[in-house]
Amino acid sequence: MHELAMATQIVENVLEEAKRHDAKKVAEVHLTIGKMSFLGVDQIKFSYGILVKDTILEDSKLIVEEKDGKIECNNCGYKGTIEIKDDPAYHIPVPTLQCPKCGQTAKIVEGKECTITSIRILKQEDKNGCKQC
Ligand SMILES: [Zn+2]
Repeated sequence: MHELAMATQIVENVLEEAKRHDAKKVAEVHLTIGKMSFLGVDQIKFSYGILVKDTILEDSKLIVEEKDGKIECNNCGYKGTIEIKDDPAYHIPVPTLQCPKCGQTAKIVEGKECTITSIRILKQEDKNGCKQC
């Protein structure tokens, strides 16, 4: 399952990052998912919800922002966004697409990513105030 593998990677990365910042709890995780990644946002969220159980990520909010895909054509030089209809037939990880201008094979240059854009962490000190002063 594609989404589960991706969610596992996200959780691992966030945990590592949180540890580096000495976080006691993670409140929010912001994610950017390119539409060309063909990842199901709902499935990602579902997998995430299972994976974060009993970790400092439990009860954290996963906020997903979807990004349009961009293609580039080597034949005519077309570069632009591409509309993906919500058709199950499109939900296959195709490495190439047809150029809307000339019909030649165009390559995907953007929108395949799945990246963590920001994490909001909570530290113990934030709750209790500064002990030094
Ligand atoms: Zn073209």
